[in-house]
Amino acid sequence: MFSLDFTGKVVLVTGASRGIGKVIAQSFAAANATVIGTATSQSGADSISEYLAGKGCGLVLNALAPETFEDFVTQVEEKAGGKVDILVNNAGITRDGLFMKMKDEDWNAVISCNLTAVAKLSQLFMRGMMRKRAGRIINITSVVGEMGNFGQCNYAAAKAGLIGFTKSLARELGARNITVNCIAPGFIESDMTSALNDEIKEGYLKNIPLGAFGQGQDIADATLFLASDGAKYITGTTLDVNGGLYM
Ligand code: NAP
Repeated sequence: MFSLDFTGKVVLVTGASRGIGKVIAQSFAAANATVIGTATSQSGADSISEYLAGKGCGLVLNALAPETFEDFVTQVEEKAGGKVDILVNNAGITRDGLFMKMKDEDWNAVISCNLTAVAKLSQLFMRGMMRKRAGRIINITSVVGEMGNFGQCNYAAAKAGLIGFTKSLARELGARNITVNCIAPGFIESDMTSALNDEIKEGYLKNIPLGAFGQGQDIADATLFLASDGAKYITGTTLDVNGGLYM
């Protein structure tokens, strides 16, 4: 039987100020990990430090500013007192609109935040994992990357790209005992989804066999499992957590 005790492990969760990332960070802290969570503002980072209550802290990270990433790695290692064992690439944004009218800046921001930054952060943090010959990289993709979605060409492209990236990196890092996996949430209640109109929400609900939207905790539970010893033989996969919306 595997345990969900992460004593001695350093976990980095991007986008931990709210939504899914916050529940993931809180769950790792409850499971005794040292957690570093990120927000785009200092006040967001402070709120993370507050809820982690001594089990880690919040730091500022803007995924759209790759020139800051090297310094960010140094800060994470200083604050955590060691290298990252488990990287959860959760931060994500949407800039929805019909592709016919989509502005280049909306395409570029979504690809940069949801795909390019995930790749760069993985490259920077996997170095420490390679030295330890152990590690976990968990990328939060989306059901939209698997099935597509009206008005989300940029987001679907980034999230589908993440799945291909994950499979390829899993092949490269397998020999180093580092697993790389995706979790693909369906419709999870959060700030990101509260922006959708009621018609779209009702449309989703009709197509969810389990008859309800998901909660952040559903994604956090899947994340802790993939980070645990129980998932040591799982790599390159995408774990769907969507109530059956897509199967
Ligand atoms: P959310 O509530 O909107 O929270 C987004 C998080 O990302 C916040 O912590 C935010 O920080 C951070 N963030 C935003 N822009 C950033 C940037 N430029 N650089 C770094 N961090 C940034 O989102 P969520 O719904 O919890 O989604 C979390 C992940 O799950 C995303 O990757 C999303 O695509 C994926 N997902 C969500 C759903 C869903 O139904 N909610 C479904 C499928 C996939 P600030 O607070 O500082 O802005």
